[in-house]
Amino acid sequence: MASRPDPDRLADRALAALTGVALGDAMGMPAQTLDRDVIQAAYGRITGLIAPMPGHPVSHGLKAGQVTDDTEQTILLARRLLSDAPDFDAAAWGRDLMDWEAGVATRGLHDLLGPSTKAALAALARGVTPQEAGRNGATNGAAMRIVPVGIATLPDPGQIASRVLQVSQVTHGRGEALAAASAVAMVVSQGLEGASFEATVDLALVAARKASPNRDPAAHAAMADRIALALDIAPQGEEALARKIGTSVQSLQSVACAFGIVRLANGDPWQSTLIAANIGDDTDTIGAIACAMAAACTGMSGLPSGPLAKLHAANALELQPLARDLLRLRGGIR
Ligand SMILES: [Mg+2]
Repeated sequence: MASRPDPDRLADRALAALTGVALGDAMGMPAQTLDRDVIQAAYGRITGLIAPMPGHPVSHGLKAGQVTDDTEQTILLARRLLSDAPDFDAAAWGRDLMDWEAGVATRGLHDLLGPSTKAALAALARGVTPQEAGRNGATNGAAMRIVPVGIATLPDPGQIASRVLQVSQVTHGRGEALAAASAVAMVVSQGLEGASFEATVDLALVAARKASPNRDPAAHAAMADRIALALDIAPQGEEALARKIGTSVQSLQSVACAFGIVRLANGDPWQSTLIAANIGDDTDTIGAIACAMAAACTGMSGLPSGPLAKLHAANALELQPLARDLLRLRGGIR
């Protein structure tokens, strides 16, 4: 890893990480929730930003290139981090998510809150504390929206793990979800300093094991082990990752799978995105996480201009000011 932070590289890689969330999300959108053979039958091999098939169970109503909850909640979390810094108001964050879901329903769309977030917000509404509301949340929602934390936090595993806990436990309090989000944030944070994806892996696993050590340590270790296994399996290819690691919304499957995909793609963000879009089940979230991690380690030069133009034409994304403002928090928050 480079010893001196380079402001231009930090800005470029922060923007690339946020853009990677959006590109991976939009690429995976038409295939989300579908089995690999259904994806193949409906689309052949997905090689670009395409519209969902008619009657898609979740994505119908979206157009080619449109992003989903992964990108929208990443932006939402970035804004909450920026407005609360140096603190974080977990109850207000819960309200942000509830308001977001109401807005999705108003737009007539069907890609609503994931299972952990939904259960946690219902618990909050019943008066359960923010510290306890997400105690059963083990799915990948914390990891899918954690990129802003990686941008705003220096690459120290302890700092990353504690910041991840602070922003995630209201919805995702289970060890594997926190460990998964910590690992992703740690890759992003190191990438901004100039590291390659492969150079980030060891400390990402340290961060996964460190996440709230007094809470569910076995689950943290299991998540770290699962990421390590996915990285080992990666050279066997896409089908082996899908079969042996899994692609469901469970953090132990999809987040580990995203790590394996980036290794399989030799750290290339676009290749990572193509693999994720076709791998099956939670393709949009796997793509968002994989492309963000890879792009944080390459910068914008790793993202192809044609798909980026289509992505920006399909969505009103204002990622540059967010990246710049999140970088101002880097090192300045506890
Ligand atoms: Mg999604």
